[in-house]
Amino acid sequence: MTDHTDVVIVGAGPIGLFAIFELGLLNIKCHVVDILDKPGGQCAELYPDKPIYDIPSRSSITGQELIDDLMKQAKPFNPVFHLNQQVEKIEKLENSEWIIRTNLGKIIQAKCIVIAGGAGSFVPRKPPMEGINNFEGKSVLYSIKDKGIFKNKKVLIAGGGDSALDWTNEISTIAEVTLIHRRKEFKAAPDSVNKMLELEKKKIISFSIGQLKEIGPGTSKSLKVQYQNNENLHQIEVDYLLPFYGLIMELGPIANWGLNLYQNLISVDTEKFETSEPTIFAIGDINTYPGKLKLILSGFHESAMMSQACFKYCFPNKKNVFRYTTTSKDLHKKLGVK
Ligand SMILES: Cc1cc2nc3c(=O)[nH]c(=O)nc-3n(C[C@H](O)[C@H](O)[C@H](O)COP(=O)(O)OP(=O)(O)OC[C@H]3O[C@@H](n4cnc5c(N)ncnc54)[C@H](O)[C@@H]3O)c2cc1C
Repeated sequence: MTDHTDVVIVGAGPIGLFAIFELGLLNIKCHVVDILDKPGGQCAELYPDKPIYDIPSRSSITGQELIDDLMKQAKPFNPVFHLNQQVEKIEKLENSEWIIRTNLGKIIQAKCIVIAGGAGSFVPRKPPMEGINNFEGKSVLYSIKDKGIFKNKKVLIAGGGDSALDWTNEISTIAEVTLIHRRKEFKAAPDSVNKMLELEKKKIISFSIGQLKEIGPGTSKSLKVQYQNNENLHQIEVDYLLPFYGLIMELGPIANWGLNLYQNLISVDTEKFETSEPTIFAIGDINTYPGKLKLILSGFHESAMMSQACFKYCFPNKKNVFRYTTTSKDLHKKLGVK
């Protein structure tokens, strides 16, 4: 089934979220797609607890607080979120509208596309093992949606950060878990590390120092995994391998959409923040123009300017009357102000 809307925003980082608000003030409806499982982009994923000191009027606000506030500000406009999926393909229709397709098969038709993709999609950093792609999504998983699938299974978890340690501790109640990390120091929170060491002492989980080397089909279990500890190679058969090596950002499919790029960023004008393709806009960290500053406040400005241009495409026969949120009764109604 195809969803219909005015604008599809690619990326639910801070700039994509503020764009919902600015477009909403002009009666423009949005669907928002992000590959992550929650809105917030870099702020929520990379520095949720760190204070930001250069958001206008906020002397200090953490990454997550900013995202929570932006979500609250966008709420009156009822944006539709499609999370956990990547916008893969776009194609132009004869009536100049766009079909947007995600890797999960979601199809959305829209008049305009706003790319707020930051430095690109957050994707898992993969272990360098030849042929691992043959098992991905089946017995090799980079994120967990339903931990129930691990009940009474043998699971190998790799990594030393919060995800690796938290899942080791959590899954140990239902599965036989081995944790493997390249050294005995961990990046994860000390509480999680202590809990894991306690479980190891009680022989509820196993922990080995080592690095993943090879992967192939197992004989008794679905996977045979080889790992190296010093000079020694070890082999283990498991039902699942969960590598948690953190996330990296890559431009991904956006690079194939035929837009003018400069050093992997999308070139835009500074009046409308439109790309080389009319009706496709790019705002926030993903765009480039003379003097560009990769700051959240710059992206907020770009959202407002882009929205004015989008209005003309969405409502070609309507006049856009400039109004302040302080004094406009019409805007108060949209925002639910009593
Ligand atoms: C440690 C750190 C500290 C920072 N401190 C400050 C600061 O003090 N002040 C400041 O102004 N800025 C700061 N920044 C920069 C700021 O975080 C960025 O400027 C801001 O996040 C850019 O927002 P964005 O919405 O453009 O992109 P992002 O926040 O990168 O969000 C983009 C989103 O798009 C998604 N995406 C991309 N491609 C696709 C696709 N094809 N399909 C689906 N989803 C996709 C990504 O998954 C991501 O969630 C800091 C950055 C870091 C890393």
